[in-house]
Amino acid sequence: MENKPAHILKTVFGYESFRPLQAEIIQNVVNRHDTLVIMPTGGGKSLCYQIPALLFSGLTIVVSPLISLMKDQVDQLVQMGVPAAVLNSALSPEEYRHHLMAVKAGAVQLLYMAPEALLKPRMLGVLSQLAVDCITIDEAHCISEWGHDFRPDYRQLADVRARFPDAVCVALTATATPQVREDIKTSLGFRDSDEFVGSFNRENLFIRVVHKQNPFSQLLEFINEFPDQSGIIYCFSRQQVDDLYDALKGEGYSVRPYHAGMSDRDRSTHQSLFIKDDVQIMVATIAFGMGIDKPNVRFVVHYDMPKNLEGYYQEIGRAGRDGLPSHCLLLFSYADIQKVKYFIDQKPPREQRVANIHLNAFLGFIETEGCRRVPLLTYFGEACSDENCGACDNCTRGEQDLVDVTVPAQKFLSCVKRTGERFGAGHIIDVLRGSQAKKVVRFGHHRLSTYGIGQDCSKKQWFHLSRQFIRKRLLVQDMEFGGLSLTDKAWQVMRGEEQVLGRLEPDRAAPARDKEQPPVSRYDQDLFERLRKERKRLADHAGVPPYVIFSDRTLMEMAAVFPQTKTALMDIHGVGAVKQEKYGDLFLSVIHAYCRPTAATKSVPGVQVSGFSKQ
Ligand code: ADP
Ligand code: ZN
Repeated sequence: MENKPAHILKTVFGYESFRPLQAEIIQNVVNRHDTLVIMPTGGGKSLCYQIPALLFSGLTIVVSPLISLMKDQVDQLVQMGVPAAVLNSALSPEEYRHHLMAVKAGAVQLLYMAPEALLKPRMLGVLSQLAVDCITIDEAHCISEWGHDFRPDYRQLADVRARFPDAVCVALTATATPQVREDIKTSLGFRDSDEFVGSFNRENLFIRVVHKQNPFSQLLEFINEFPDQSGIIYCFSRQQVDDLYDALKGEGYSVRPYHAGMSDRDRSTHQSLFIKDDVQIMVATIAFGMGIDKPNVRFVVHYDMPKNLEGYYQEIGRAGRDGLPSHCLLLFSYADIQKVKYFIDQKPPREQRVANIHLNAFLGFIETEGCRRVPLLTYFGEACSDENCGACDNCTRGEQDLVDVTVPAQKFLSCVKRTGERFGAGHIIDVLRGSQAKKVVRFGHHRLSTYGIGQDCSKKQWFHLSRQFIRKRLLVQDMEFGGLSLTDKAWQVMRGEEQVLGRLEPDRAAPARDKEQPPVSRYDQDLFERLRKERKRLADHAGVPPYVIFSDRTLMEMAAVFPQTKTALMDIHGVGAVKQEKYGDLFLSVIHAYCRPTAATKSVPGVQVSGFSKQ
């Protein structure tokens, strides 16, 4: 007997192989063990319950709080020939009745619902007449008060679960904090629960961090690398969104704004234009993105500093869900950081400490000279090697910017020593720069030999240096109070036994023009555009977003291997039996037409599908 999940993966979804953990998770669910799945956005959580749902004879209920996402998922499934339906308040009464009848008749295998719809006694009554094999709880962090998105309805899902004792329960979330995880398991009574935690490393995301100098032209330079490709630009405030939107529109870009100050109607129109590929760029506050599942977002820009690393990670996670190379640009300035510091100072002391820890983690990410993935993944509790990732600015820049900063290091470290290893960087810098600050005088630090020996660097440069010293483990910082103390390595530096390499003058850092881009697959751009047009036509006709028909990656592969027959089409990523049947001829005729007229010059090139590791 062939491996059933793998068979479904190929014939229904059109994929070659499972991503990490998917196969194990599916097996666990099929064996009827409750399962908690933690994977980052775009990690491939949906298949973990969709494939079991197709293997079970009874119904799989999927609870999700995001109505727009539900419709989208169901549209995609229906396109693949999966008997899926949605029941929610967005349906017309007729549609609702129609779907409900199909459910009662056993014609639906996957039923998507909002928690409040499921919790209605009448609905529970209907469902308890049916064989329910699986209850899936998507966005399961909503169950936890520790989560960022707690929903009281979700708490009651535990009772629902108890009403269907034979059903296996699958909970999924992209929120990784241990507290939330524990909370989910306890609330759902996962006794024998198996927990699967995926890697939070999104290898297809290319990460760049750039000093904000002339942000608008830095932005233009960046987005011009992605003509006609979808992208999101995040701003801090509504005002900033409006201004940037005007500016981009003025430059002739296809762009729309999105923020909480706009009417619901405008927001949903703009969102849907973006999803349908009718508009290229969204300029938005972080209000945008929760309810969208667009797989072909090719770039995400942070025009202003994100709130913290967790937020940043969530936001960049919206790029490249389809697994294709995608780009993230963070523009940051020390002025933004000063603003954040100011806000932190206004908070009560307890909150200040937590906020400072977050801010320091964030600074560590921004200022690292090593791989950006190290501070990012460490923050999520994931061990990460500091090998060259090939997909961040630092790993592709090389070491040429490093200079010898041994002397400044010796000055700084001596000053830490002389002041008694209990002050933070700010005070040390004041002493080094010969400041008259009250605190300096009060402690008599203006009489130290290190007083005023650091006038050759600006305050900003010293701060930048001090953080490098911390990262290089010359200094350790008290997480709570910020006091610095020396390590053994620091003594070696002070004795002149060890050289220190680092970066000076952060402002000098030119916007990263990365010589090395991640591998972009070779495909025929003209054909790709034609296939895209055909996809858009079909999508508009069916009233669904283009990616529901085929993903970008699917079209790129077609434009790279020029499949000539329906059988050959089945080998393309994302083409399952039903889609092949439904759309195969249409897309083949585009390919045929493209190859025909200039057959002499454009005979099917033997282009390798490079850059696609066929998954
Ligand atoms: P999540 O729910 O974890 O955010 P999704 O389930 O939406 O992620 O998956 C993200 C994208 O990856 C989707 O377009 C999905 O079809 C695709 N995908 C998932 N699993 C595979 C796989 N094994 N092979 C190829 N593509 C996959
Ligand atoms: Zn890297």
